[in-house]
Amino acid sequence: MNSNPLPSPPARNPATRPALTDALRAAVAEKAAAARDFLIAAAAEFGEALTFANSLGAEDVALTDILLAARLPIDIFLLDTGRLPAETHALLAELEARYHIRLQFFFPEAAAVENYVRAHGINAFYDSAELRRACCRVRKLEPLQRALAGKKAWITGLRAAQSPTRDGLARRETDANTGLVKLNPLADWSEAETWAYIRLHDVPFNALHERFYPSIGCAPCTRAISLGEDLRAGRWWWEAPEGKECGLHVKP
Ligand code: SF4
Repeated sequence: MNSNPLPSPPARNPATRPALTDALRAAVAEKAAAARDFLIAAAAEFGEALTFANSLGAEDVALTDILLAARLPIDIFLLDTGRLPAETHALLAELEARYHIRLQFFFPEAAAVENYVRAHGINAFYDSAELRRACCRVRKLEPLQRALAGKKAWITGLRAAQSPTRDGLARRETDANTGLVKLNPLADWSEAETWAYIRLHDVPFNALHERFYPSIGCAPCTRAISLGEDLRAGRWWWEAPEGKECGLHVKP
């Protein structure tokens, strides 16, 4: 007889299931229409020089659905750092199947990763903020630069309310790193509005969100959060909140 206790049911983060009140439904419909119109205008303005950097967070899958529902000719690309959780790869496959698309992946340069690991160790990002940023440079920033080559503008799923580092985020800004126009169509969305859109439109999402991972990056640098914690508290949790960006999205 198996005396092991049954596994406990998976935790369900209530933030991923907001009450779909009439007021919330109306707010989401209005904001989704505004985001769609914003994207239509951006596609007309930038044409092929526009791309969507899809981070696969809750906001980004909602934005993917808005973009594809409007049949906008905007490239979607993703950065695969080589350290993503299995749940993120499962979501990637689900998105491709759901929307009948092939997503465009950018991976880090193999030699750069090998050099970093040989010099510092496989998990050196825990040792110092400098080594953590160096790993992000190799695995994220360099591939991002390749993905943005020749582009004039890029779209993100950033929201102002996600963290102190994103406070005051505008829908349109000039990116301090790249000099490109950065478009954040969901800048004024709340977490509840994001999840209401996902639920109302049955959009695929990362299973980790229901296990209290509101912000998901590389597996070794992401943990679950407790109720009431900042939404990005689970990213690089050993560092101070003000510096917790990977370099993809920094303020000047
Ligand atoms: S999030 Fe962690 S593993 Fe991923 S690139 Fe940055 S330091 Fe490296």
